[in-house]
This record gives sequence, structure tokens and C-alpha cells, in this order.
Amino acid sequence: MPATWIKDPLAIFAEGAERGVVIKDGRIVELVPTGGQPITADVSAYDASAHVVLPGLINTHHHFYQTLTRALPAALGRELFPWLQALYPVWARLTPESLELGVTVAMSELLLSGCTTTTDHHYVFPAGLEESVDIEVGVARRLGMRVLLTRGSMNRSVKDGGLPPDSVVQDEDTILADSERVVEKFHERGMDAMVQIALAPCSPFSVTTSLMASTAVLAEKLNVRLHTHLGETEDENRYCEEIYGCRPLDYLEQTGWLHQRTWLAHGIHFNAGEMARLGRAGISISHCACSNQLLASGCCPVCDMEDAGVSIGLGVDGSASNDGSNMMQEVRTAFLLQRARYGVGRVSHLDALRWATRGSAACVGRPELGEIAVGRMADLALFKLDELRFSGHGDPLAALVLCGAHRADRVMVGGQWRVIDGVIPGLDVGDLIRRHGAAARAMQAG
Ligand code: ZN
Repeated sequence: MPATWIKDPLAIFAEGAERGVVIKDGRIVELVPTGGQPITADVSAYDASAHVVLPGLINTHHHFYQTLTRALPAALGRELFPWLQALYPVWARLTPESLELGVTVAMSELLLSGCTTTTDHHYVFPAGLEESVDIEVGVARRLGMRVLLTRGSMNRSVKDGGLPPDSVVQDEDTILADSERVVEKFHERGMDAMVQIALAPCSPFSVTTSLMASTAVLAEKLNVRLHTHLGETEDENRYCEEIYGCRPLDYLEQTGWLHQRTWLAHGIHFNAGEMARLGRAGISISHCACSNQLLASGCCPVCDMEDAGVSIGLGVDGSASNDGSNMMQEVRTAFLLQRARYGVGRVSHLDALRWATRGSAACVGRPELGEIAVGRMADLALFKLDELRFSGHGDPLAALVLCGAHRADRVMVGGQWRVIDGVIPGLDVGDLIRRHGAAARAMQAG
């Protein structure tokens, strides 16, 4: 395979690559500095002079199936617990066909927004959806995205003091057996892995202590990552105090999760001592700025977390609390929210871009992603600044975040172009919207 020189970008989020980067065999093999020429032999150039080049964005928290329940009237104007209670019965009607459409929509939105690696936290398993992860893997392979799919789980329903109804939970033995099955069937190891699996009991109020502990043991045995929601709301604090007699982080420690295999969604309501414990343990946090504002859950103390040694990544969260899957818009939202919290001297657009790339790479345990540097995987997002919203800008990288970039012109995953001229080759978006919309209406109508 000849090498490709992404030549003379308008701007690039990297040091010493002013004249671009050289890609070969799916990896970045050379950075070309100001005044330089590639030293790699047999290079064909791609003219990037109209593009701002970023490392591919990495989404660290999502629930793809929720694209089927966006802006649902029954869930509007509710905080997390009543919001979930309004949605569970609708999600119980998910089918393999509607899940596949929901996943395709979410991943296509992400890819078009410059996202090259995404996680998904799938935790509803009504009867008939036993092979949810298999369905997600199929879509990821078709679209050519890198994924860390989490085998989510819930086994504490209302009758056991939990929040979800019986119709969406499974028993512990079934969950553990399927977790092992999907890791053995799909989890790839190595720098160029396209599909990976993690294990992800949903939350303290939908999972038993026994399942939390046994999942941590299984993740250790299978050498895969662990994910859950934690520190999202004050309601969760109260639930843990009442049911477990401790705060959520103590509960995490008691169940064997306080180590670097774990990344957590939200992390809003930890105190200073708890942040220090998270930092010492090497736990990463997925900051979900849109979702946290929509559900009025609070604001993750991102800078305090980083001071405590916690890596911060960004996540769009599910499409019932965002209600979109646009990673570039998430960068802007996180930038604005954290700047409002910490001030102009503390948070810049470059910090927000760093969270969505290097920080997110730490969450997914993939240091070979999230950075434009020699030896890293060739996952890139290229944006043009040719829309009305960018006209008159002074700094291309700042303009991406401040003017509200929302759609990549080109996206490369492992050296392959997966978005060309703002479209996904081979994807009929009109047909997808028609079929996905019909599936959503059927599910919502019951
Ligand atoms: Zn979530």
C-alpha cells in the first residue's frame, strides 16, 4: 500500500505537523513540520489546504437504542429517576429490527460529526433481544467505526427495590454467561483492534451488589474494561445511603471496582476526598455535558478532577437525554459549561478538544488513539470552514469550537476514508430516516 500525505492542512491539532501527516498501513508514520517534506518513500498527496485536521473524536458514553425515543413527551421535564421510569416501559418494546436501526442512526450521526471510535452502553435486554451486542457489532463493521461495546446489565427490578420493571432485566447467571460469550466471540486485542467489549452493570439502583462484584471478577479474568454510571445525581447518593449504607464511591470500592480498569459516566457528585481516591485508583470519567444539563443532574467538576489526577473524556450519552449524537457539538457544549464554571483563564477550546481525544482515549484504555503522533492509529477528522457560521474567523481551531462545527467533511478510521465529502459512502440516509422513524413511532405507540 502506498503512503498518503495529508498535505498542508489549514490547521492541525498536533505539534510539529504544520505541513501535515503521512499515513501508511493504517498508522501515522510521519509528521511533516514547517518547511519540511515527507521522508517516507512512494507518497501520494491529499490536498488538505481547506481542512482543519483533528485526531478522530472518541465518544466515551452512549446508549444507541435511545435514538428511538428522542424528545419523547412522557419524558420531557423530568429528572433522572422519573425520566427513567417514564422510558423503561417504552424501551421494553425494543426489537432486534428496531435496535439495528437505532444503532445505525446513532453511529452514522457520530461518524459524520468526526467521531472515529465510540463506546455504547446497552443495558436493556427484553425477551428476544438476547443478541443485542451481536447486532451492534454487525453495524459497526458495516460502517467501519472503531467500537468499545459494553455488555450492559440490569438485574434489580422494582420487586427487589430497584428502579426498572421486570420486563427489561435478566438474572445474574444469564448476564455473566452472555458477558463471557460476547467477549470470547468479539473482543479483539492489539493496537489496531476495531471491536472491543467491556462489561457494564447499569447503575447502583438497577443492579445487585452480587452482580457488581461478580462482573468485576469476570472482567479481571477476561482482561476487559469495566463501565457504569456513577455520581450522576443526588437521588443516587440518597439511594446508596439508604440501601447500602454508604456513598456511591464506597460502594464501588466494596464491590471491587476501584482500579484503572474502570471508567465512569458522569462523576458529578463526588467530594474532594472521593476525587483524590478516583485519581489514585487511575479511574477515568466520561463527562456528558449535554445530558447533565438536560436532566439538570449538575456539572462535573472537570478541572478539580484533572487536578486530582483523573483523566476526563467526553460522551454524548444516550439520545433520550441529549438528544443527538454529535461529538463535535459535545466538544462545544463541554467547553461552554466548564468555562462558565471555571472561568476564561482556566478552560480553553484546546482543553475541550483534548478531552474529546486524548482524555477519551484514556477512558477506553486505548493510548494508541486520540492523538496525531508517530505510531498512533490513523484515525482523523477533517473539517471545512466553508459554512456561513465560520465566515470571518481568525483562528481555525478556535473557530471549530466557538462557531459550532457540527459536520466533518472527511473522516478516516485506520487509514480508510469512512466519510467523503460529508457523506458515508453507500449509506442511503433518506431510507434510513424513513425506516428508523417508522420503528420509533411503532415503539412509542406500544
Ligand atoms: Zn448513560
